[in-house]
Amino acid sequence: MLKLDTSNTVQSRHLTTLGQRFDEEMAKWKAPFSGYPSFTASLHQLLLNNRQAILVGSGAQLQALIQAVDIATRSTGSTLTRYMHDRQQKSFTKQKDMEKLIETLGKVFDYDKFIYKSQGWNAYKLVESHGLRICPYCHLNHVNYHGQVTDKTAPKKLEMRPPLDHFLPKSIYPYLAVSLHNLVPSCHQCNSSIKGDEVPDSSIPHPFDAASALGLSFGIKGSALAIHGVTNGEISLTVTGNTAWDEFARFFCLEERYQWYTPEVNDMLKRKRDMDDSDKVVQSLVRLPAFILGFEPDEFEKRALGICLQSIARQQGIL
Ligand SMILES: [Zn+2]
Repeated sequence: MLKLDTSNTVQSRHLTTLGQRFDEEMAKWKAPFSGYPSFTASLHQLLLNNRQAILVGSGAQLQALIQAVDIATRSTGSTLTRYMHDRQQKSFTKQKDMEKLIETLGKVFDYDKFIYKSQGWNAYKLVESHGLRICPYCHLNHVNYHGQVTDKTAPKKLEMRPPLDHFLPKSIYPYLAVSLHNLVPSCHQCNSSIKGDEVPDSSIPHPFDAASALGLSFGIKGSALAIHGVTNGEISLTVTGNTAWDEFARFFCLEERYQWYTPEVNDMLKRKRDMDDSDKVVQSLVRLPAFILGFEPDEFEKRALGICLQSIARQQGIL
């Protein structure tokens, strides 16, 4: 996936805005915690102690926090995480004290407030700060961002952003609902149709983990004639990943989804064939990699399908 990063300014703005809401709501939520589960005092203290890690901590810190919450909320053989998982089942019987806790966590980590088109730091500003063009999970779809229109003569106020995916679902981890490094701008397909409330395997690379370089490769299967662009529509695409990326490809159903784009890959193969068939004068006038790919090679992360086309072009000896 595309690497995401946050600047110190972004972290500081996030911590200031969300930290203020956290402080206000935590101050209202006080001992003796009547009506709450028996572990509430320890959970409350744990959240206070980890204010910064929850709001702007790294992916590894968020994983560590989940483990700490599991320990703090372990009672009668269950944990908050277990309860949240089971709660997804239709036949599940809700417990009053746990529901009260979940409601309170919803106020402390209020995602709905963060997505208001309000002044100051919010979801729109966060998406803008990433400056992404393409979904960091699938690399297929655009993640269009249109900021606030300040020109009063503009015919229509266009303000929109892609969804923010909770890498670790807020339906299971409500205390990570506004964590900076749990909010990933992504396309609707990855966010809703594919991922939903499914918890990614802990081996799947975290979008903000600087240590995990993209480990996906793309290939073509089909007849030699189709692969050389002589016939059309007879190819299929393969998507494979090394180590953790194989699970990533499976989780996001990449191979199935990429089949939709065989026409675009065919187009590239035909451009290559046309160029091979053209005379030397034409070939000398064209900047080959950019012509065949349809974009400058170093722009591949900013183009829909760019990583796939570049990977296949390399495999086919085009680049
Ligand atoms: Zn996507």
